[in-house]
Amino acid sequence: MKIVCIGRNYTAHINELQNEKPKHPVLFLKPDTTILQRNQPFFIPHFTDDIHYEVEVLVKIEKLGKHIEPQFAHKYYSQIGLGIDFTARTVQKELKENGLPWEKAKAFDGSTLIGEWYDKRRFDSLEKLSFSLEKNGEEVQLGNTENMLWRIDELISYCSQYFTLKIGDVLFTGTPSGVGPVALEDQLVGYLEGQQAFSVKIK
Ligand code: ZN
Repeated sequence: MKIVCIGRNYTAHINELQNEKPKHPVLFLKPDTTILQRNQPFFIPHFTDDIHYEVEVLVKIEKLGKHIEPQFAHKYYSQIGLGIDFTARTVQKELKENGLPWEKAKAFDGSTLIGEWYDKRRFDSLEKLSFSLEKNGEEVQLGNTENMLWRIDELISYCSQYFTLKIGDVLFTGTPSGVGPVALEDQLVGYLEGQQAFSVKIK
């Protein structure tokens, strides 16, 4: 499986990193080796001490698709989740400045945290999902899918113009504002519509 990530999907986050508002969704991929094993701590990697959390709403693809039209995209998923796209921010900044690909900043082992999955039918609307991240008991990120530049179905359609989506692929739909650093012994807890979707310790 692969992890398809969207960058710059929330205006407030685009502004905090002083990025330009994109004309199209920004896409990047992470391999399955990035997935943090369930209930394992996140270990700060050896090559940097500047790791940021990015809490994001996730979609699990459950049907093979290519060139999916937005109006049919809803048929390709039934589960929604919450996760973290851990990012080596200084590394990413250097790569960006040099016009280089982001893999060293985004696709290192353990950089993908996938929390609980929920049946999408339990939510009234996927276009109004609230989600948040707490660090050591204090809320650091608060988002709502109503603030996405591109909705889930539009993202699936757009990604599938480039990449065949396969069963088990996971879409990371972008982070809202409030990204920030982690430190040793931090505890990160994510909530989707008030439900705890994951908890992870930083080591
Ligand atoms: Zn991200």
